[in-house]
Amino acid sequence: MARENYLVFARKWRPQTFEDVIGQEHITRTLQNAIAAERIAHAFLFIGSRGIGKTTTARILAKALNCLAVQKPTTQPCNTCDNCRAIAEGNSIDVIEIDGASNNSVEDVREIREHVRLMPSRSRYKIYIIDEVHQLSPGAFNALLKTIEEPPPHAVFILATTEAHKVPATIISRCQRFDFRRVPIPEIVKLLRAILEQEAIRYTDEALYAVARAAEGGVRDAESILDQLVSYADGEITFKHVFDVLGLVDWQVLHDLTDAILNKDVARLLGLVEDVVALGKDLGQFVQEILRYFRNLLVCKTADPKQLLGLPDDEIARMQSQAERFTLTNLIRLVEQFAELTKGFDSQLAQRIALEALLIRISKRTIETSIDSLIEKLMALSEEGVPSMPPAAGAGPGAQLAEPLLFEDAPPDDQSAAPKTTAARPELSAADAAKRPAPPQTPPGARVSAEEARAALGDPHVAKVVDVFKGKIVDIRRSPKPDHH
Ligand SMILES: [Zn+2]
Repeated sequence: MARENYLVFARKWRPQTFEDVIGQEHITRTLQNAIAAERIAHAFLFIGSRGIGKTTTARILAKALNCLAVQKPTTQPCNTCDNCRAIAEGNSIDVIEIDGASNNSVEDVREIREHVRLMPSRSRYKIYIIDEVHQLSPGAFNALLKTIEEPPPHAVFILATTEAHKVPATIISRCQRFDFRRVPIPEIVKLLRAILEQEAIRYTDEALYAVARAAEGGVRDAESILDQLVSYADGEITFKHVFDVLGLVDWQVLHDLTDAILNKDVARLLGLVEDVVALGKDLGQFVQEILRYFRNLLVCKTADPKQLLGLPDDEIARMQSQAERFTLTNLIRLVEQFAELTKGFDSQLAQRIALEALLIRISKRTIETSIDSLIEKLMALSEEGVPSMPPAAGAGPGAQLAEPLLFEDAPPDDQSAAPKTTAARPELSAADAAKRPAPPQTPPGARVSAEEARAALGDPHVAKVVDVFKGKIVDIRRSPKPDHH
């Protein structure tokens, strides 16, 4: 079984059974059930991005249909009979693999139609795997449609495409359709781990997670990066090797950068940029990595990071503690600002993250604060919300509220602003308040907590209004309070 030549991992570790295909259980189980029930369709359509297992699954299905070890199609092809071996190597005479991109003419498909009538020579089925089927010409699609409308009983078509919307509806409706998913990060990590263990190559988990993230759900891409890493790393594959091979910036830099932002440490921020430049890293890519990092912080703040990020636990814990130090509003704004900065880079990532930030913003309604309700809140705040505020501190509350919002949450002085309110309503953190939709109309005199009011003020437009009202607030505070009792 030892192979003479070096095989890239993607080929060497290509799944040979339905059970080996990762991340597509919804498909492999359905196919196995159909085979077990002897309900085998004549046309399948496999849809999904490149490198996630469409052709691999098509070959396993072909083996399942034509394996010689049993008398009928099997869910467990033997992988040792002549048919199984020939299919795995791509040279079975009864399993024809066609690249739709280069065989896309009417003549090509007519040839298939003539050929398909002939009985398979030593198999139960004659199987056509047409990759990139969306590339067929309209005439070729018509010819194909006629064939799959009335196929000979021994014919099976497996069509694969990355762009289902380019496949005519008439074809799609004749096929059993299977949508392949991008593979979740933990599953890719599991696969990479299994490969390296069998290859007896040492690694760190952080390295594997970084590879899986870079592959963005593509198994083949992950395996290709792993190939490069094995050649590059001398001994154990580490997180740092991945960053070197992919030209990324070490995450420690992103942690430090975020801490420096939180600490308002401008010298440190500039020093970090200097370091990145000195390492010869691409600044455009660096900004994208910052963007991705802040997107992760946003996920930590709003959703279940373990499920969505697929990072090691200690990374998540580190990011969660940083995320807690930002308000939701600030994180959204930072993400939008970094996304804005990458706009010139024509980045899919930037577009996606800007979209996510917008959706979170909309769903939390952090900015939908009308001036009317703002004024009402300010009035309520002046009456109720900040009992311990020195009543006539000259630059007082207005100045504080209009401070740059990035650091509005910096705890010490902020908390002293409203200790009683916080104690009385412990469920209301500033972030919670920001998540709550602003009430459309607060009745005059309604009581609003300092946190709610501050959250309402967390928008730059509103901050400007606050500036205007600053003097007014001080006036209100100084005026005698109405008796509440
Ligand atoms: Zn077999």
